[in-house]
Amino acid sequence: MYFQQLTPHLSMLSLGMVHCYLFEGAHGPILIDCGNPGDGTKILAALAHRNHRPADLRIVATHLHIDHIGALSELQAAGAPAAVLSPLDAEAVAQGIWMRPMHFAGPFGWFEDSINRRMATSQRGPMVQTLPAGVDGAVLFDELTVIATPGHSMGQISLYSPVDGGILVCGDAAVHFTAQPNISFLYEDKGAAITSFRRLAALNVAHAVFGHGKPLIGSADGAFKLRASRLKKSNN
Ligand SMILES: [Zn+2]
Repeated sequence: MYFQQLTPHLSMLSLGMVHCYLFEGAHGPILIDCGNPGDGTKILAALAHRNHRPADLRIVATHLHIDHIGALSELQAAGAPAAVLSPLDAEAVAQGIWMRPMHFAGPFGWFEDSINRRMATSQRGPMVQTLPAGVDGAVLFDELTVIATPGHSMGQISLYSPVDGGILVCGDAAVHFTAQPNISFLYEDKGAAITSFRRLAALNVAHAVFGHGKPLIGSADGAFKLRASRLKKSNN
């Protein structure tokens, strides 16, 4: 299981339901998100295949959820550095919180109460080191611009780079399971999620990738703008 090259600078490691990404820019490798607990071995093997040692990495997590930070402690045990999160999510993770209560759209609403109750009593969280550096407009590691995209998580960040025609790493600010990307069906604040999605759709990027769902390579711009116009209609 290796990183799949998507553009000259960006590759994807699929870990089942969730993906993590490797951005290889001018200043060395950046790992974006790091899967569920237990995924560390797969990620380390895929990095070794690219001749990257854990100590050489910079790491950014798009938000606090366990499927995006779950293997951080395994990577850090192998020598990887602290991960950058937004200040809100870094503070939560430092307290062992890896999910705040969420709303579940449509039929998933049936599970909302039971899952939120279970989360509230199982907040152990991985012991990970984090840096609260992911604020809107910040340029991380001289390579990736942070776009604050609250909604799915109120600390959710997306990442932008102008290379390769424009790359957008959405985390869970958007998902892509159907013809166009969409907001996630899980959110802390749906209105904020829609506002954030429109902000992403206003960018001009060739490529967009997601925590969940298929990458949009070469066709991100039109797909985002089309969905954003429909979201607008359905929420007027
Ligand atoms: Zn999430």
